Amino acid sequence: MCSSHRSLSCEACGAPVSAIDGREHFLCQFCDSLVFGQPLESCQDRIVTTEDEGDGTCPRCDQPLRVGKLDHRNVEYCQTCRGIWLSTNAFVDVLNGRRSNYRGPQLTPVPLDPKELDVRRPCPGCRRVMEVHPYHGKGNAVIDSCHRCLSIWLDPGEITSLERV
Ligand SMILES: [Zn+2]
Ligand SMILES: [Zn+2]
Ligand SMILES: [Zn+2]
Repeated sequence: MCSSHRSLSCEACGAPVSAIDGREHFLCQFCDSLVFGQPLESCQDRIVTTEDEGDGTCPRCDQPLRVGKLDHRNVEYCQTCRGIWLSTNAFVDVLNGRRSNYRGPQLTPVPLDPKELDVRRPCPGCRRVMEVHPYHGKGNAVIDSCHRCLSIWLDPGEITSLERV
């Protein structure tokens, strides 16, 4: 677990928030908001941010995504929940690159929370419901994908937990 544990409360409703295993952010059990301990520029997923508005809409926050980069691939991201929208090709490239460069400790994947498989969200591009499936391999994450847009939605921390092999 994170050693620099701070006591945080939810910005939206003021309730105490709880840590999520393997992620650097916290979840409000009361209103489902995500709370972050560090600025977006130094988030664990290493999103390179811009101020430019993208084409997509955040499936969680319902606000316009912004244009950014993950490594050198184009992505869009949500400045509020820090989710990332990218093409399936970009996802595979970024993940393979990060896995081969990863020099950190071998981490035991956190078991998937089966509840995550029940959450259905609209695609940031076409707004139709995305498919939800566990992405196995060596890290574990539940990812959302749209086969019409050939794109993937990643919740914050997911690319990072998949990278740790
Ligand atoms: Zn809250
Ligand atoms: Zn969002
Ligand atoms: Zn779509």
